[in-house]
Amino acid sequence: MKKNLIFDFDSTIVKSETLDILAAISLNKDPQKEKKINSITLLTNQAMEGKISFPEALDKRLKLLNITKKDIKKTVQLLIDDLSESIKVNLNFFKNNKDSIYVVSGGFKEIIIPVTKILGIPNENVFGNSFIYNKNVVIGIDKNNLISMENGKSKLIESLKLNGIIVMIGDGYTDYEVKLNSIADYFIAYIENIKRDNVCALGDDIAKNISDVKKYIKKYNIWILSHFYIVACNNSKLTDKFKGCQIKIIKD
Ligand SMILES: [Mg+2]
Repeated sequence: MKKNLIFDFDSTIVKSETLDILAAISLNKDPQKEKKINSITLLTNQAMEGKISFPEALDKRLKLLNITKKDIKKTVQLLIDDLSESIKVNLNFFKNNKDSIYVVSGGFKEIIIPVTKILGIPNENVFGNSFIYNKNVVIGIDKNNLISMENGKSKLIESLKLNGIIVMIGDGYTDYEVKLNSIADYFIAYIENIKRDNVCALGDDIAKNISDVKKYIKKYNIWILSHFYIVACNNSKLTDKFKGCQIKIIKD
């Protein structure tokens, strides 16, 4: 059965949070730089821990900044050198499974794509927010993009109508929400770069690196089949999802 692996981007594929880097660059000459960066980091953490909604956090953070196209270019360069260590040594895993791997991020598509290109992930499998500009300055994000909405990751992934098992891999509460909303079958809390205890408590597994992810997804075959066997008869949403898949019943 096909396994769709949906990766988060910030603090998962790369070590940092994109918006923190964008903030440091765009506020470089701002006299209130330190104060604004602290506010942005606080908002990021509150959103990652599920204390405020992602759209609210993003709006507040963008208002504190004055991001230019030049800042975006610099951020991309820094992020290309900021791949998580275990991802750097597992580039073949991403290249060999590129058709089953998606990146769904509350970050910005324009910044993510040059990085995911290195992993060989097709651009059409990469989803993120889109900037709106006034000349060279970012004045907001496209609010029609599903990812910008409350529960955006779930809405976006649901819209892909993927067949097979869906595994969400990420470090934040918004990643867990995809399983909470019954869009992902499994959630792997990814702690290579940051460990959030409240998110770890919600993971089916906790991965320290990509080797752990590879190990965990192997066992999901068996688990999902027994799960399917029990609930499929009474759950039309699940039955639809597996339509056309070959089901083998594995006995203990
Ligand atoms: Mg993240």
